[in-house]
Amino acid sequence: MTAQRRRKVLIVFGTRPEAIKLFPVIRALEATDGIDVVSCVTAQHRGLLDQVLDIAGLKPDIDLDLMESGQSLDRLTARLLTGLGEVMDRVAPDRVIVQGDTATAMVGALAAYYRKIPVGHVEAGLRSGNIYHPWPEEVNRRIVAPIADLHFAPTDTAAAALARENVTTGVHVTGNTVIDALHWTRDRIAATLDLSSGLDELAARFAGKRIILVTTHRRENFGGGMAAIARAIARIARRDDIAILFPMHPNPNVGAVMDDLLGTPDNVARIAPLDYPHFIRALEMCDLALTDSGGVQEEAPALGKPVLVMRDTTERPEGIAAGTARLIGTDEDRIVSEVFTLLDDKAAYSAMARAHNPFGDGQASNRIARIVADDFGL
Ligand code: UDP
Repeated sequence: MTAQRRRKVLIVFGTRPEAIKLFPVIRALEATDGIDVVSCVTAQHRGLLDQVLDIAGLKPDIDLDLMESGQSLDRLTARLLTGLGEVMDRVAPDRVIVQGDTATAMVGALAAYYRKIPVGHVEAGLRSGNIYHPWPEEVNRRIVAPIADLHFAPTDTAAAALARENVTTGVHVTGNTVIDALHWTRDRIAATLDLSSGLDELAARFAGKRIILVTTHRRENFGGGMAAIARAIARIARRDDIAILFPMHPNPNVGAVMDDLLGTPDNVARIAPLDYPHFIRALEMCDLALTDSGGVQEEAPALGKPVLVMRDTTERPEGIAAGTARLIGTDEDRIVSEVFTLLDDKAAYSAMARAHNPFGDGQASNRIARIVADDFGL
């Protein structure tokens, strides 16, 4: 009997959320008989990506190191296409896997398509319905859909969104791999307390206060939206029974506005981006999350933390349907009043602070690895 040919899967990613959501997939594929994984980072976001790689113990096989400061979307897209195309020519994978909605995911799919290499899309089918919110992610992920032949939809809602675009074959509802990453990280934190101990001092400083965890980085909020967010946080921080924990995205568009309009009141900790275990610890410590992030909308419900989403649309309606997330936009008065209502109205708070798992059961990566292996006939 002849031995079956091993199959090569190239996994391409470039940013923090992609790394968080793909490291469990890489582990699951590496543990699958007959599959060799080649991981390639584009380093679209260098520092934040490296934080996750360190924690996950991952050393990428290929590092394109494409980040430039102030990079335009045009230039980034062009460099990604030539860079990833060369990698695919050299590696000659049997399948490419991309995640989510970044420029890396969109261009990774396109470069594979140009070579007729099949593409698997992790976190397929998220749609806000508005191509400018989130921008450019909504179009990035839509471009991947007609190219991919395996669509790993996190929820039934995501699979239904694909069906509306006539994408019905190769669609598998797997759960979101972010929940796998969350479980893995919480187990690591429980086993190695040092992993998240850096926040102890802040926890002591904020003892007795209601803690709001803030993150903001959306491109479509740069400018007016970000200024409104900064002014709202400054008003919220005037209450001394509240503390704000604000790991700031390194994008200079965020820091400059916060310097101007928020400053550094005593009860506001503007800190460097947290590595993943520390961020999960921060989520556990807080009373509510105020965010425009996609991933945080998925993690907070799993931890029973209410999330106020500073966006006009969301491609993750499951948290809202489950009652743990509320879409509040970026109007200054609305942000302030939504935060105060939630903190001051016990019934409103407990209605939102219930743990739900609309985004998966922590087994998504194993399902994805099995589907990829089955597709190869392994
Ligand atoms: N995150 C982190 N450290 C931080 C802020 C966020 O590890 O200081 C994690 C968070 O847990 C989530 C992911 O980064 O899994 C979200 O990334 P981001 O908000 O940058 O992107 P999005 O999810 O909106 O694409």
